Amino acid sequence: MNICGYYPESINEGEGLRASIFISGCRHFCKGCFSPATWNFNYGDPFTKEREAEIIDDIKNNPLLSGLTILGGDPFFSAAEVSAFIDRLRQQVGPISIWIYSGYTFEEITENPESPEYELLRRCQVLVDGRFVEELRDPSLRYCGSSNQRLIDITQSLILGKVSIWQPTFSF
Ligand code: SF4
Repeated sequence: MNICGYYPESINEGEGLRASIFISGCRHFCKGCFSPATWNFNYGDPFTKEREAEIIDDIKNNPLLSGLTILGGDPFFSAAEVSAFIDRLRQQVGPISIWIYSGYTFEEITENPESPEYELLRRCQVLVDGRFVEELRDPSLRYCGSSNQRLIDITQSLILGKVSIWQPTFSF
């Protein structure tokens, strides 16, 4: 698995101050995609054990962070590897809020509860879902690019068996 971006601190990819990791590779090929270079699974740099350890250390040593956001590309095309990374992160850092972005919808990801994609979903707290739709692009939206995309409370949605929209903790 390659990563094509990493911010140790960002306020643009989720609530609060968050570390953000961009996973290379996407097969949704949305028209008007913000970064077609990230479609290539070989784009960026290999996510070596050393790089992983550096990022885990960064997160562990930054008490100001509200959590981690995982984007792409689409991290769900590397679901098993991303899940393994989250497990190692939590072993070393403890409970940490994880936001994750996908071109897949919540309904598509939860179609098969035995799938690696479902396993990845259940490790995260907020899903920003759905393909980017150029005709629905709205720069005023917070944390997403087009109005079809939803910010989903994963825990609540899995309990209820239907999409529950995430409610901000902070007011803006
Ligand atoms: S899901 Fe995201 S990265 Fe993939 S093509 Fe669509 S906008 Fe681009």
